[in-house]
Amino acid sequence: MKSIQQKILMDSEIEFYIRDNDYLSAANCLFKSQLNSWQLLKNNYDALQNVQSKSFWFDGFKLKVQFNPERMRSTSAEVDESSIQKRKCFLCIEHLPEEQKGILLPGDFILLCNPYPILPRHFTVCSIKHEPQRLIKAFDEFLELAKLLSPRYTLVYNGPACGASAPDHLHFQAGTKNFIPIENDIQQLKNDFGKIIQEDEFITTSFIDDGLRKIIFIESTDKEKVEETIKVIFNLYEKLSGIKPEPLVNLICTYDFEFGWGVIIFLRSKHRPESFFKEDPEKLLISPAAIDLGGVIVTPRETDYQKIDKEILRQIIDEVSLDKKNFYLLEEKVKAELY
Ligand SMILES: [Zn+2]
Repeated sequence: MKSIQQKILMDSEIEFYIRDNDYLSAANCLFKSQLNSWQLLKNNYDALQNVQSKSFWFDGFKLKVQFNPERMRSTSAEVDESSIQKRKCFLCIEHLPEEQKGILLPGDFILLCNPYPILPRHFTVCSIKHEPQRLIKAFDEFLELAKLLSPRYTLVYNGPACGASAPDHLHFQAGTKNFIPIENDIQQLKNDFGKIIQEDEFITTSFIDDGLRKIIFIESTDKEKVEETIKVIFNLYEKLSGIKPEPLVNLICTYDFEFGWGVIIFLRSKHRPESFFKEDPEKLLISPAAIDLGGVIVTPRETDYQKIDKEILRQIIDEVSLDKKNFYLLEEKVKAELY
């Protein structure tokens, strides 16, 4: 069995940066080194440079569609319990590809280059232990890592039942900051469609229904306040949805030295739209997770990329997002608890 030491990239420059707490430079070195030593990674990043994409404008926000054939494996991943039990966990140290190396991050995480990128720089941040994907247990680390990897990267979380391709192994993604449209759109969305339900000198929490997505947005420089608020939200959302072990969410988290954390939470009704399960030609191989809901919808098949239009996007995003009634119910309950 491989040990963690065998998967850490031994490099004096990286070691120097980590001693200096400069994880951005360390991540940069890792990326460059892996591009040189791992052909699959190099090929897929080269392909990403020429990837086709098209944009659709909605009321005050943008959604991009990206034709990315290398995402086929992830988009179509079998994530039901029996399939997960049958396969080897591809995020466990001992099953990582031979060429793949990483750097250790605080909190017992390892930073790895994602060989099937969507974002111009795309990392997987994995727990070094095989433990289930659960946000609340790892939320402190999630916020800390978002801070550590800012200002260059944004942190992403997909819930075990709505987008995580390894629901049995705790992991986040880190990617190029401001590539996902909602990072730039969120303040405008909050102004246009948001209701502020909690606001004091430490924290602002808004519920945003932009007509398609159901979003909760938390802004705070105080980590404990963010943690308190998310626990209240999760607890009430779990009761409301009845979904265990975790209500359906995707998160995108940024950190700014002046404004602190910005946590965007997408609330979901289901993982995959009905069109995912249809036979061709009705089938659409689209399996939305955080990056898709943030505004980069990935289509691994060219036929789907060609077919997709504004109306299809509207239908899919609306279908997988929490319904209006439950969103407003949750808003009332969270407001009552936080007030
Ligand atoms: Zn694992």
